Amino acid sequence: MNDMPPRDFIRQIIHDDLQSGKHATIVTRFPPEPNGYLHVGHVMSICLNFGVTEETSGKTFLRFDDTNPGKEREEFVRAIERDVHWLGFDWEDRLTHASDYFEQLYASAERLIELGVAYVDSLTADEIREHRGTLTEPGRNSPYRDRSVAENLDLFRRMRKGDFADGEHVLRAKIDMASPNMNLRDPALYRIRHINHQRTGSDWCIYPMYDFAHTMSDAFEGITHSLCTLEFEDHRPLYDWFLDQLEPAHRPRQIEFSRLNLAYTITSKRKLNALIEADVVTGWDDPRMPTIAGMRRRGYPAAAMRDFVKRCGVTKKDKLIEMGVLENSIREELGEQAQRRMAVLRPLKVVLTNYPENQVEMMSALNHPNRPELGTRELPFSRELWIEQDDFMEEAPRKFFRLKPGGEVRLRFGYIIRCDEVVKDGDGQIIELRCSYDPDTRSGSGTSDRKVKGTIHWVSAAQAVPAEVRLYDRLFTVPDPSAVEDFMTALNPDSLQVVEAKLEPALAEQPAGEAVQFERLGYFSVDSEDHSIEALVFNRIVTLRDSWAKIERQAMPAS
Ligand code: ATP
Ligand code: MG
Repeated sequence: MNDMPPRDFIRQIIHDDLQSGKHATIVTRFPPEPNGYLHVGHVMSICLNFGVTEETSGKTFLRFDDTNPGKEREEFVRAIERDVHWLGFDWEDRLTHASDYFEQLYASAERLIELGVAYVDSLTADEIREHRGTLTEPGRNSPYRDRSVAENLDLFRRMRKGDFADGEHVLRAKIDMASPNMNLRDPALYRIRHINHQRTGSDWCIYPMYDFAHTMSDAFEGITHSLCTLEFEDHRPLYDWFLDQLEPAHRPRQIEFSRLNLAYTITSKRKLNALIEADVVTGWDDPRMPTIAGMRRRGYPAAAMRDFVKRCGVTKKDKLIEMGVLENSIREELGEQAQRRMAVLRPLKVVLTNYPENQVEMMSALNHPNRPELGTRELPFSRELWIEQDDFMEEAPRKFFRLKPGGEVRLRFGYIIRCDEVVKDGDGQIIELRCSYDPDTRSGSGTSDRKVKGTIHWVSAAQAVPAEVRLYDRLFTVPDPSAVEDFMTALNPDSLQVVEAKLEPALAEQPAGEAVQFERLGYFSVDSEDHSIEALVFNRIVTLRDSWAKIERQAMPAS
């Protein structure tokens, strides 16, 4: 092992357990419930569970918690597998399901009955709730609590056989109805549910409850450290109670850490599903969704996601992480990687009145400013160009270094131009700029060493390829939408803007899955679902700067 100090309290515990010889191999699990797609919070759990074993040559199980038949779907199982792989982790032959252990779980339940610490209760669900008490009042024992072991065994076996209807009986642990911890007030272990299970079919009509199934699955798999989020802290006494009673060969240890919450979004499968149901987004993989599938479709690199959760760290303190932290990880990853291209999102026509009609010059453009090995490409330049509408201002302040009437600007990889005339339509809308270019200022080979303050991007009109560009913004208008009573009221109506953009020709061949920087605008990638050769569709991954930090897009310094 290296001698770097462990970077968080969980890695410290693991480090100590290896040093002391308590464990020779670390075994963890990531236990999703296949009732939705994985989100950014799960990324943290995946990176932690798979990360600690990657670092210590241990093993990690991907275990589907499929104890809740009816809500779980094969589509979600496939999506979860794909997402974990995409993040860069591999469970090898350790793909399991809680349902793989239904027989062993059943045997453990019978064992609890034999030990006299579990009983079949015949109260109704409502009566059980009434007996439970409250946070300030102790619960009351069920009248069925003192059934004999023989009677309990008989009833439980008949529950399994299908002799009873849903809700008629329930198997409960016999712990303490007066415990200040509600989880210890005789929690349910098995419920009767006459419903088919997606893996075990009609084999069972009783299903184990989460706490019991989860604890014992951890034990069966030899999990050493069962890492979960803080809301399970109050369940730990129950987790330990099961282990104390059943004394399995492997005793896992539950350790809790705080959830990762991302500002301006939500991380709850239930609420994300509500967005889909309400048609606010197009599906689990809508690029605005904080799901792994959505983020992948938007173009977030897996490496950036891993870097992001590393920066967030593993702690016991609840926190709301700024979206800017995630976006910075993405910018850092893409800044080095993404080739540069030119695209105009909101086009304004420029006509160079002194440029020969029908002439096309090919300008050599660097694919990456810091990586000459990525080469150059040829960029057509001609008399009619597109520039960005907001790179021109008719009434410009003195510090506006882009184009203004009578002003000059450099066209990136092109010439210096001057705006001579503003053409408007009948409504006073600017529809065209008539400009002149200075032939001595061609980028790289110009004979003039004239300098101007601003440089703007452009695309030659005749060769430009049209594309639909989807500009994404925060899904919500408030940092913590889950704290709003009805989170649907906090939706950002402008989370998606669609523009008809003009792209330089090279972008028609942009490979899927490869991010590109539109100079001065941000990072973009082709949409994995809707893009085709006939109809180009690009997604904005992230802007170049955090616009939410109120930094305005400026003209680049003159080249
Ligand atoms: P949701 O509330 O979105 O349904 P969940 O916790 O019910 O989430 P599971 O599929 O049960 O989802 O979670 C699998 C694992 O991921 C659990 O160990 C859980 O603790 C962890 N996890 C879920 N959400 C987060 C989060 N926001 N941050 C860190 N870990 C999380
Ligand atoms: Mg859950």
